[in-house]
Amino acid sequence: MSILQVSGVAKTFAGKGGGTVALEATDLLVQENDFITILGPSGCGKSTLLRMVAGLDTPTSGIISLDGKPVAGPGADRGMVFQSYTLFPWLTVLQNVCFGLREKGLPLPRQVEIARHFIARVGLQDFEQHFPRQLSGGMQQRTALARALANDPRILLMDEPFGALDHQTRELMQELLLGIWEEQRKTVLFVTHDIDESIFMANRVVVMSARPGRIKCDLPVPLAHPRH
Ligand code: ADP
Ligand code: ADP
Repeated sequence: MSILQVSGVAKTFAGKGGGTVALEATDLLVQENDFITILGPSGCGKSTLLRMVAGLDTPTSGIISLDGKPVAGPGADRGMVFQSYTLFPWLTVLQNVCFGLREKGLPLPRQVEIARHFIARVGLQDFEQHFPRQLSGGMQQRTALARALANDPRILLMDEPFGALDHQTRELMQELLLGIWEEQRKTVLFVTHDIDESIFMANRVVVMSARPGRIKCDLPVPLAHPRH
């Protein structure tokens, strides 16, 4: 069975002249362990689709189910990493990564144990007492990734997570994420407008077009890492 089902999901934003159709009725089935990149030009509805899966926005019609249960609002079963750093600026790296674990009510020593494991996995073991402002962009995204993984989500939702990084850092982050995906068999839905990135990362590329947003094709991609 697919882990995520998007069935007839459409989104219209209210406004003048009937509003903006951000997404036409869309179907997408995500299988466990898929690494799907959603590729398309600016304005084709990529973020809107991801935000609805995240529960941050509601479809105008259609239904989104995770493990057979309709999603209603955000939940710890979906880990999110967005382009603009969404870390809590007043919390250290360790506290940021502990955040969801604390919400779950885990005892502090267990929170710290789990958080340290993922902080080390993204290579930030020497920075756990740093605040986000003391970190480079890449390091902040590493922290966001560790925080998402620490909650053991069913699916990782990533919206141009490396879009603000320089080329070299971006490649490092891509390798890091792929390594984690291969080792933990995570399911990933990854939005990008970068063709190289979409083909390099994915086992499936979903290509969208704009006006109105719709899926044009859904292609399997043979994995071809390492890059060099
Ligand atoms: P992408 O992520 O592919 O760049 P978006 O999902 O952000 O595309 O946007 C799809 C369309 O929906 C665009 O035409 C955009 O202007 C419109 N849109 C997105 N969010 C809103 C909003 N909150 N209110 C009105 N229109 C929106
Ligand atoms: P990333 O590849 O994660 O974006 P950078 O390339 O910016 O990181 O940084 C490379 C290295 O420089 C880091 O691994 C770290 O050792 C050091 N560094 C970067 N920013 C800081 C900082 N604010 N404080 C201490 N060391 C830093």
